Amino acid sequence: MHPELQKLVLLQDIEANIREAEEQGEELKELGFNLDGLNQLKERAEAMAGEINPRHLAYYRRLTRRFGHAVVPVIDNLCTGCFANIPAQFVSATNENLLQKCESCGRILYWP
Ligand SMILES: [Zn+2]
Repeated sequence: MHPELQKLVLLQDIEANIREAEEQGEELKELGFNLDGLNQLKERAEAMAGEINPRHLAYYRRLTRRFGHAVVPVIDNLCTGCFANIPAQFVSATNENLLQKCESCGRILYWP
């Protein structure tokens, strides 16, 4: 996987967890979960975002606002965001160093 893509997938996971924890904060506290790590996690996410090419990050942010998930896996040659068919030859050797977008919905794709 392209290192930039790896960072985006990780950032997406961390940010989703942060959003979830913030939404359920009070409930989680009542259940006895320790939320002290949340700020630390936010700092980590920010630091990671700083390592990503600003152009890619802006695109990721736009997609996240629009769809919730910006980076989606391709399963059985389908974009799991919009279920468009992703041709197998889409991932050619020359594309390995580029981020791949679904031609139908624009989400960033990865092959798990
Ligand atoms: Zn798609």
